[in-house]
Amino acid sequence: MTRQRLTILGATGSIGASTLDVVARHPDRFEVVALTGHRRLDILETQCRRHRPRYAVVGDEADARLLASALAGIGTEVLAGPEALENVAALSEVDSVMAAIVGAAGLPPTLAAVRAGKRVLLANKEALVMAGAVFMAEVARCGATLLPIDSEHNAVFQSLPASFAGSLAGVGVRKILLTASGGPFRGVPFESLTNVTPDQACAHPNWAMGRKISVDSATMMNKGLEVIEAHWLFNAAPDQIEVVIHPQSVIHSLVQYADGSVIAELGNPDMRTPIAHALAYPERIEAGVASLDLFQVAQLNFERPDLRRFPCLALAFQALEAGDNAPAVLNAANEIAVAAFLEGGLPFLRIADVIAASLDAVPVAAANELAAVLAADAAGREAARQALMHFGRSGQ
Ligand code: NAD
Ligand code: MG
Repeated sequence: MTRQRLTILGATGSIGASTLDVVARHPDRFEVVALTGHRRLDILETQCRRHRPRYAVVGDEADARLLASALAGIGTEVLAGPEALENVAALSEVDSVMAAIVGAAGLPPTLAAVRAGKRVLLANKEALVMAGAVFMAEVARCGATLLPIDSEHNAVFQSLPASFAGSLAGVGVRKILLTASGGPFRGVPFESLTNVTPDQACAHPNWAMGRKISVDSATMMNKGLEVIEAHWLFNAAPDQIEVVIHPQSVIHSLVQYADGSVIAELGNPDMRTPIAHALAYPERIEAGVASLDLFQVAQLNFERPDLRRFPCLALAFQALEAGDNAPAVLNAANEIAVAAFLEGGLPFLRIADVIAASLDAVPVAAANELAAVLAADAAGREAARQALMHFGRSGQ
């Protein structure tokens, strides 16, 4: 069997580590060509020793020198900076790219992989949210294959027929039902959320994830970003996407068909399942995940999301309806607000206010070109920084 050659963008993160866990179970199938990490050199060093990639990419030259000397004799060339990320995503000797950098920083290398016609395993939802029109046009133009890693979208992908080619109506689909756990604060009285700390927000009941997406799950902006992600991946209109709170996180999402059938993908909440699915697609491989024990699960519950309690979810639907550059502004403002919250500079309940103010401040404009997307991202960040002066702790 010829091995599938991989670049893993964001190898040192939660998705990156889960990807390497699956890869390590199948040395006959996968070969790691490049690994990237922004800060945690210790983790990247260990990963390079274990997987012996041809290239490793870090944030800057100083870190590159440190890692290169630590890896002397391993045969890994250490590179630095955003351009190197794009280069390892587009290498001719690479078949597949796991896009697992968090946030807008992941857009350029993920787009580089798309433009090189790679099989792109997309975890970096922010890239698609901010640049959906450009991203999907480039996927089509360059013949790239896009496989969703986000558990909900991977579940939808698995629940759609193989004949799905961009028209939900064409395969008899009425609706996509995206499940959401509701995060750590689902049952907590709204008033008591005023003093939520970053560690409380990051303590997700069912999934162990990076800190940014953990805060997004607590505000439900994560589900909002996923609604926009589903819009682009499956060509779904806003009213064809419904969010269902399902606290057990066992059903990862569902597809409702015209004949009344509902098809879902179920499993234990472990990202190695969608990662293994996309890595081996259309085959199936061992992922190290235990079989779902329905007797232990016993119950599956569902609730309607409360949009007053989770205003970020409403803001995401609003940005999707507005279209054009609004999702890029939403995403940028969210990144600034979440970073401020994690640094102790913004109360939890003010995250939504910063995003709403930013959406109000930046005029809606077309976003069919990468330059326009990047301009919207910059404008969203600037508007959010302004809003932080009102809503941030230093501004109170
Ligand atoms: P993480 O914070 O654990 O890891 C992020 C990775 O990105 C790290 O390798 C980090 O070094 C790298 N990175 C951060 N900033 C960078 C920059 N400026 N330039 C280059 N690299 C940078 O995050 P995660 O939880 O693994 O999430 C990664 C992506 O996958 C996110 O977009 C997230 O929304 C998505 N996702 C994660 C999960 C999950 O279970 N963790 C589930 C679904 C989707
Ligand atoms: Mg998800």
